[in-house]
Amino acid sequence: MVSPFLSPGLVSKEHDLASLHLRRDQSLPVVLSTEVTSAEHVGYAEGVVTNTRFGSFPHTTMIGVPWGSQIRASKVDTGSRGRKEAINAKKRKAEVLEQSQTNSQNGESVVAVEAASSGFVHLLPPTPENWTISLPHRTQVVYTPDYAYILHRIRARPGSRLIEAGSGSGSFTHAAARAVFNGYPTASDSGSEQQGTAAGDVESLGKVFSYEFHAERHKKVKAEMVEHGLDGVVHTMHRDVYADGLLVYKDESEEKTSPEANAIFLDLPAPWEALPHLTRDRRDGTPSALDPNSAVHICTFSPCIEQVQKTVSALRQHDWLDIEMVEVQHKRIEVRREYTGLAYEGMRGVNPYAVDVEEALAKLREVERRARDFHAGSLADRKPANGGQQHGGGKLPFDGGKLVHRTEPEIKTHTSYLVFAVLPRAWSEEDEAAAQAKWSKHV
Ligand code: SAM
Repeated sequence: MVSPFLSPGLVSKEHDLASLHLRRDQSLPVVLSTEVTSAEHVGYAEGVVTNTRFGSFPHTTMIGVPWGSQIRASKVDTGSRGRKEAINAKKRKAEVLEQSQTNSQNGESVVAVEAASSGFVHLLPPTPENWTISLPHRTQVVYTPDYAYILHRIRARPGSRLIEAGSGSGSFTHAAARAVFNGYPTASDSGSEQQGTAAGDVESLGKVFSYEFHAERHKKVKAEMVEHGLDGVVHTMHRDVYADGLLVYKDESEEKTSPEANAIFLDLPAPWEALPHLTRDRRDGTPSALDPNSAVHICTFSPCIEQVQKTVSALRQHDWLDIEMVEVQHKRIEVRREYTGLAYEGMRGVNPYAVDVEEALAKLREVERRARDFHAGSLADRKPANGGQQHGGGKLPFDGGKLVHRTEPEIKTHTSYLVFAVLPRAWSEEDEAAAQAKWSKHV
């Protein structure tokens, strides 16, 4: 199976995992299907239907369309479901209006505003980012601003061998899988006639080794990797990494091999308890979990400063260098134009929740029409509503308004403290001799 997270193709297909983008920060994962297999979908003439706050979407309208398409809500034949639908209809109308206004403020197109009269979603392929905002939470998760920075700092790239503990809800796992995936061995790499093309068929050379000690969470993340076609990239293990380390084996009887990791991410309550297993020289004679031919970059993720202190102390004791703590403070700046002039006069005093949705949308359309006319030059000779006064630094067109900005309050700024460090590669006498021999050829 080709993972939709790695190569979704251009057009949606039956059985694809899709992300229905409802609005910013809100999307719904859905497996596209025409076969009614669950009771949830019985009673719709259209077959499988996904109901959202913005309307009903039969899957037949979402299969075979280019990813990114806007899909309008359909009037579905709800049969026995009619009563429930009617109860929700009023609430939904107000939400449709809210959606259209959000889009309008975000500068999305007039077309989008008009389509909202019946409700719409955008059909997106699954990505680690939209999976993170819609995944079933089994634990706290690492969000995109943190994992984007972490993956960059631990130098995760195609071909990396990355250790992750614990797997938790698999949010970081998806992003890490995409970062390290480097395709599958070709015929010439493997020496065989067969060429690997799909995740799950042949293993990716870049790998994520993901450890979780909670049995149920491990089972879920393992199943999810198979469902998402990422099992050729991610190797999940049920393990208490404090007690049993990070070598690769299924059960105690099996031979233990090294994951040869060069990137490590520890999202554990006590990362310092895992660090004794992440050294180059193993006194007990077991192989090291680290790549002997590369420097190793680590990140630990802890909400409290006391945890950071213990981690830093253990890192120092186990020879890690360049130890640094970072806190990613994510701020969203909302920029909007405050209109004072002609174009938005019609919307003053309109309470979107108190009015009829058709009436409010007619007003919005009128606003958009006037703006279009203005840009087309048909109003070019009209006098500015504000008399052409200065707003801030510049002279504005007749209803250009004033740009204002503020930090959006709802974003949590503290997620966790990130501790980074590097363990240089070991350098033996043989390595030095080989290096000398190589240089001498060029001198
Ligand atoms: N990074 C994950 C994500 O983005 O979804 C969330 C990880 S969650 C905060 C921490 C996980 O570590 C939990 O699922 C917990 O069961 C697991 N854990 C705690 N101690 C562990 C240990 N000793 N060995 C393996 N996993 C452990």
